[in-house]
Amino acid sequence: MEKTSSFMGFIKSLKCRLIVFAIVVAIIPSLIVGSAILASYETRAISIRESEVLSQARILSNQLATSNYINGVSNSSETLLAQMSMLTTIYDGRILIVDDNFEIIYDTYNLDNNKTIISEEVILSFKGEENTSYDAENRYLEMSIPITNPNDETNTVLGVLVASVSTDNIALNLSYLTQIATVIVFLVIIVIGCIGVAISIHMVTPLTKLSDGIALVQGGISDKELVVNDYTETIIICEKFNEMMKKIRVMDESRQEFVSNVSHELKTPLTSMKVLADSLNSMQDAPIELYQEFMGDITNEIERETQIINDLLSLVKMDKSGATLNITTVNMNELLEQIMKRLQPIADKQKVQLVLESFRPVSAEVDEVKITLAITNLIENGIKYNKDDGEGWVHVSLNADHQYFYIKVEDSGMGIPEEALEHIYERFYRVDKSHSREIGGTGLGLAITRNSILMHKGMIKAHSELGEGTTFDVRIPLTYIA
Ligand code: ADP
Repeated sequence: MEKTSSFMGFIKSLKCRLIVFAIVVAIIPSLIVGSAILASYETRAISIRESEVLSQARILSNQLATSNYINGVSNSSETLLAQMSMLTTIYDGRILIVDDNFEIIYDTYNLDNNKTIISEEVILSFKGEENTSYDAENRYLEMSIPITNPNDETNTVLGVLVASVSTDNIALNLSYLTQIATVIVFLVIIVIGCIGVAISIHMVTPLTKLSDGIALVQGGISDKELVVNDYTETIIICEKFNEMMKKIRVMDESRQEFVSNVSHELKTPLTSMKVLADSLNSMQDAPIELYQEFMGDITNEIERETQIINDLLSLVKMDKSGATLNITTVNMNELLEQIMKRLQPIADKQKVQLVLESFRPVSAEVDEVKITLAITNLIENGIKYNKDDGEGWVHVSLNADHQYFYIKVEDSGMGIPEEALEHIYERFYRVDKSHSREIGGTGLGLAITRNSILMHKGMIKAHSELGEGTTFDVRIPLTYIA
């Protein structure tokens, strides 16, 4: 099983593909060039053979004419016959001499002597034409040449010389050359294959370095930056990988910080409760009033612990990727009125005046619970971090255009220092930790608010003047964008 998968791995690998590519690139041109050379060799060899035999046959036909061989009065017939037999031996062929009665008066094979030959070629040759033809299947060249006396101005055709020569030795050469070509192509494939293997190993090495480097970083063995400078592509991959690792490390740090913050925050009320309980236990005959006071403090710590856990749960729910929103069409004017009504007792306790200003009726597609949480946190902060001299106020306004609705929460409170403004949405961040704790803050409110607004594809901005007050501007699309 493992063998098959490693084999499949090799087949799919870049290395294997480069080798195959190199071999294919080598085979195709070698085959094309090889077969083109062989084909051109064959035509060229046949045409050379043809012109050689033709010129010899012409010489012979002239000699036959001038020596009056056709008329049977030649005194040099012995020489001519020897010449003809030499020619047929050299070219592995046959010569027929035909007289003007279409009778074969000489056949080098001595087979058809005195027979009549009437073929198209012979007839044409008697009209003064030379004919050549090649029978590729049976591999022989045939030509018929008129025998005319060059000294006779009338060009009377005395007879016809028919020569046929075998091209077997050309075919033999061709098959020999084909064998050589096959061996060469085979050698080329082996050589190119070896070069292909060497090149593919060389080319794939940076990728192997890359995956080894990634494995080291992933396994936590190396925390160095990944650097493989061999190709532009590997440089880009390294850059992207290093960027990703940086982000993962930041996320990891913030996760660790979050976990330690959570445990610290959860431990604080527990520690207080333990101290209170221990001191009560250690006291003998503690007065009932002290018990009541300490139990009151313990109840407060339990409430605080509950508050932190509730806030954490809200945050975690929103943080979960793919957290879904329960979108409905909500009358925002009514929603704000309800929230203000719910917060009125806290505002009264703080002696802070709450004012709602609605510029127009607004209905929006939102998750009512999450939006309520976001707005409640903003108004609650406005109340919590306000003056307690009875002069404090929180103004909430609602407006909209054709695309967004806008909520502004303005307070006359203590304000936020400029350098703290960029941190207020971080989990557990508090400008003044002890003050925030005193007034029941968990440091999670604005993180929840921001998450909820971002889930609605909205945005939140804060402006603040120390000692003057703070304004939060929220903008959310009227129609939910999935
Ligand atoms: P908390 O539960 O402590 O209020 P938040 O996340 O709601 O946590 O706010 C973070 C910090 O931002 C608060 O501790 C407080 O210091 C500051 N802050 C938030 N809103 C206001 C405001 N309206 N006025 C002044 N300070 C504010």
